[in-house]
Order: sequence, then structure tokens, then C-alpha cells
Amino acid sequence: MLDIKIQKTTEPKPIPKKGEPLGFGHIFTDHMFIMNYTEGKGWHDPRIVPFGDITLSPAAMVLHYGQEMFEGLKAYRGESGDVYLFRPDMNAKRANNSNDRLCIPHIPEEDFVQAVKAVVDVDRDWVPYEEGTSLYIRPFVISTDPHLGVAPSKTYLFIIILSPSGAYYESGLAPVGIWIEDEYVRAVRGGMGYAKTGGNYAASLAAQVKAHDSGYSQALWLDGVERKYIEEVGSMNIMFKISGKVVTPMLNGSILPGITRNSIIHLCKDWGYEVEERRISVDELIEAARKGTLEEVFGTGTAAVVSPVGKLRYKDEVIEIGGGKIGELTQKLYDELTGIQWGKKPDPYGWRVTV
Ligand SMILES: *Cc1c(COP(=O)(O)O)cnc(C)c1O
Repeated sequence: MLDIKIQKTTEPKPIPKKGEPLGFGHIFTDHMFIMNYTEGKGWHDPRIVPFGDITLSPAAMVLHYGQEMFEGLKAYRGESGDVYLFRPDMNAKRANNSNDRLCIPHIPEEDFVQAVKAVVDVDRDWVPYEEGTSLYIRPFVISTDPHLGVAPSKTYLFIIILSPSGAYYESGLAPVGIWIEDEYVRAVRGGMGYAKTGGNYAASLAAQVKAHDSGYSQALWLDGVERKYIEEVGSMNIMFKISGKVVTPMLNGSILPGITRNSIIHLCKDWGYEVEERRISVDELIEAARKGTLEEVFGTGTAAVVSPVGKLRYKDEVIEIGGGKIGELTQKLYDELTGIQWGKKPDPYGWRVTV
């Protein structure tokens, strides 16, 4: 158990009113959680303080070599006014997998979850009420040694900030177009693709810009070696329904193991679908689309929950899926998962955690 000191702000900001557009990630609450790490001492001084700038040496290691880890989850406002988290223990576990890869010291899982709950509790009035809105939670660790030698830092900061965010789908679930990237790659086996770390996103920007410039909403990555097998999309995992089966790339080390992905696999299996986690080539997809057996395509991630894909472009080929409509399974998964997250449906799996 952490002994978290709480220092409340004396200048609270106005909480956005109902109907005010929230967007994503540019409004922050009144408080944040901070904890320091010092070699020999471990994690220490857990505290909740007013949200504000932090000072770092310009030589801080994170600014030069990118030794950092982040997580992303949400707090949801239930109909009764309660505040829920969704499987925060999974975020805590994944944070430590990322930490291992990046030589960042572990944060005990129970401390991670305690810190998330504590800071959300202090700012619980910021969890918005409107349909589809949530409080986005961003825990992260940065390396802070003021030292330009390349080595793991001996000091770190673990920080959690909170941002009320609008509904991902302002006007209902709409299928998006995805650009299959054949030039740049995001990660390779042995790299850090399975870790949630800024460097992977830095590596992704060029393809994202390319996809946007071509009128597509996100880039889909192919494997870094043969550029033949499907990996994932921007900040989402990807799933296909082919001839009635649910197929998704297996976790091979270069793909981020999404908590939404894991939850959806659970649901699909429970509903009697055959789920295959395996390699899937872009050629197999094109072939399935030609034969008419590619029934549904959707991305999965905390931000969008489930995002239907209506169009895939690969080189000169454009595959249309579902005739501009959302697939039946995609819609059902969206309804079930959001139902559990917002407390509108029973939670037989124990995924919902009340703050
Ligand atoms: C966070 C993330 C995902 C989705 O993970 P969830 O836990 O479902 O939100 C997928 N891909 C990448 C690259 C990510 O960073």
C-alpha cells in the first residue's frame, strides 16, 4: 500500500459543462499523481498535487534517448453516478512488461492500481456524464538522470494525468478507411513493438501523415521483415471476420497486446465464435475479399473500443468491406463492451472496477 499524500489545489479550474466539446487530450483536471524513483531507495514520495508543469534538466535522459513507458485507460460514469475503471490490473501488468523491455524498474501492480484509483477519486467530479464521454487516464514513467551517457537512468518519475474526453463517435459508429503501409514499418520481432512507449509512436508518424494525406484515417502496419503479414493499426489491434471465423494476428512480439483485443477474444469465444490468433498475410485478405468471404474488419482499442473498417487500400488495390455499413458482430461487440464499461450491462467477468 502506498501512503499517498494529497495536496489539493487552491485554484480549481471550471469543470467543462454539459454540451461543451471536450475533444481528446487537451483539457486536464485539477490534480496529478507523482512518485519518484531513486536507485537504492526504490519508488518513494507518492503524492497527488495540483496539475502543473514539471521541471527537468535539459540533459534528462528521456529527452535524448526516449527511455519512457506509458499506459492508457479510462474512467466511465455509470448511470447511478458511480465511477468505473475497466480491467486496470491489465494496464498495471502491461506497464511492467513495457518497463522490463525499457530497463525501467517495476511498479508493484497493486500500487499502480491504487495510484490510478486515488487520483481519479480526487478528481471524480471531472468524469463527464454525457453518453460516450469518459475521463482518459494517462500513467507514464520518464527517465530523469541529467546525464548524456547511454545507460538506464537511476532516477525516474511516475506520473498520472487525467483528461476528460468526448465521445469517440460523435455521430454513431462509422466505418473508416485504412491505408496498408508498404514502405515504413513500426516494429520488428526483438524490437519493442509489444511495449507501450513513445518511440514506437515516433516511428509511426511518417506513415500516419502519408495515410492522412491520401484520405485514409489510419495506417495499418505489415510485419517488419517480409512486409507481408498484418500486424496492427495506429493505436488499435485489428480483427477480421472471414467465413464466420474471427481471425486476428497473434501476439508475436512486435504487436501491442491490447486489453480491448483480449476482452473481445473472450467475448467472441463465449459467444461460440471460433477465434484464430495466427499470421495473416495481406494476400490472404485480398483473396478473401475477392471471394466475398471477408465479412467484417474492425480495429480494437481503449479510445475507440471497436472501430469498423469499411475500406482497405494496399498499393493499387482498394478493398471495400460491408458496403459502408457496420458489421453485425462489430456492432454487437461494441454494444456489449461499452455496456460493461459504463455499467449498463451485467459484468460476468469481473472486468468493471468501482472507484
Ligand atoms: C494502446 C495500443 C493499442 C490498444 O491497446 P488497448 O489496451 O486495447 O487500448 C494497440 N496498439 C498500440 C500500438 C497501442 O499503443
